[in-house]
Amino acid sequence: MTFIPPHYLKAKKNAMFSFFRKDHFLVKTPWWLKKLFPGCLWDMPKKDKTLYLTFDDGPHPTITPFILEQLQKHNAKATFFCIGDNVIKYPEVFRQILAAGHSVGNHTQHHINGWKVEDDQYISEIEEADTYILSSLFRPPYGRMKRTQLRKLKEKHPETKVVMWNVLAGDWVQDLHPEKCFRRVKKHVSRGDIIVFHDSEKAWDRMSYAVPLLLDELSQKGYRFERIKSEKTRHPLVH
Ligand SMILES: [Zn+2]
Repeated sequence: MTFIPPHYLKAKKNAMFSFFRKDHFLVKTPWWLKKLFPGCLWDMPKKDKTLYLTFDDGPHPTITPFILEQLQKHNAKATFFCIGDNVIKYPEVFRQILAAGHSVGNHTQHHINGWKVEDDQYISEIEEADTYILSSLFRPPYGRMKRTQLRKLKEKHPETKVVMWNVLAGDWVQDLHPEKCFRRVKKHVSRGDIIVFHDSEKAWDRMSYAVPLLLDELSQKGYRFERIKSEKTRHPLVH
């Protein structure tokens, strides 16, 4: 009979249950998840050493300007998926994002979870936010939308590009150590990746630690940071 040291069994047990912990998320998007949502953008072409940072849930009066400053230091561009309600509250910050040459995208008017609402309500949330954001880029809050909602959105607004991601920083997870958040992203990134961070208070500790370090270290490794361009940009401040 093989002897298994007790500490190994314990570690194994913990590893098994860690799947159910709220900080367990897949850093890199698996291929099967991409297949479930055809027609969505999960990553960008891999031919150049380019990365696509995205920031969800803003604009925020102090956190968004912090990010803009970090990006500017590295001559980096990014994409901000904004909540319509926050654009109403902080129009000047929203204007600053655009003036600095970044892209903006729609993240619904009130950050709603597609799984919890009817399709028509979901579409009208996106349409309401569009009156302020004017972008054909869209990212579903929580990454959750029904396949029927995706189909209806594409039918009604065929120009919409639904942008998902290839790397999740997990910066919203309160008990994830900032250093670990940084290392996870650094370990997993590769060319063409779309990376998710948040310009929100919940994510601040991890995002404010990880983003400046990633910009520094990955720039040194020869990566460039670009925004995701919307084919039909309608905002007058977007070029
Ligand atoms: Zn969000």
